[in-house]
Amino acid sequence: MNFDAEIGEILKRNQLSVTAGRKKILELFLSRNGALAHADIEKRTGEKFDRVTVYRTLHSFLDKGIIHTIPTPDNSIRYALCKDNCSEGHHHDNHIHFLCNDCGSTICLDDVHIPDVKLPTGFKPQQVEVLVSGICKDCR
Ligand SMILES: [Zn+2]
Ligand SMILES: [Zn+2]
Ligand SMILES: [Zn+2]
Repeated sequence: MNFDAEIGEILKRNQLSVTAGRKKILELFLSRNGALAHADIEKRTGEKFDRVTVYRTLHSFLDKGIIHTIPTPDNSIRYALCKDNCSEGHHHDNHIHFLCNDCGSTICLDDVHIPDVKLPTGFKPQQVEVLVSGICKDCR
């Protein structure tokens, strides 16, 4: 499948120029319906791009609101494309993430919103992340 048009559109919307590295990494996200681990991305781009390029590209995507991070129990950071109208410096990814114990994939459940968390007086939440683990629909 060819994602050129979509990639061009995403980069243009975020005022980023088209570079081979950005193209390749966006292609990885678009061709995969789920999250990608940092190590995965490095492995799949490693022949063409060095670690610094990959790192910088992921960081600019995070800043621009193109991708968001997903916490995992083993502390390996995973990234997924944003769908919730994220913009530069402002993410609105208030959905739950699902980690499949069988196939190991991490999935954005875009329609499942994080419930309100009631904190004791004096506490101010800045970020709430919910990761549900279990068996995904493809593995059932
Ligand atoms: Zn986001
Ligand atoms: Zn699964
Ligand atoms: Zn997500």
